[in-house]
Amino acid sequence: MAGEKQFDDPSGLLDELARERIRDVLAERGAMRPCSRCGSEHLGIFPRLSYVQLQTLAESIGGRIEEQSAPVVVVACSNCGAIYQHALGALGLMGITDEAKSNG
Ligand SMILES: [Zn+2]
Repeated sequence: MAGEKQFDDPSGLLDELARERIRDVLAERGAMRPCSRCGSEHLGIFPRLSYVQLQTLAESIGGRIEEQSAPVVVVACSNCGAIYQHALGALGLMGITDEAKSNG
């Protein structure tokens, strides 16, 4: 299905290389500190992206409705289950799932 855009792009699968890259970027930015809830150092990156649904905007009266979402990396504490979300765009990693596909 070449050229066919996958419907669920924001939930793209992250292979080990992609997660390593995300871990490196988070560490560079000081965002891989121990869990703020329980202090555990056992934090893992979910193997899939998630997204934050943004407020729906009506572009104009009677115009089309725009729904948008921001893809996020999900980091979870394996001790207490606290979940942290980091916007892919802010990390400069918007193409990370495409990179993962071309690597695999
Ligand atoms: Zn924790």
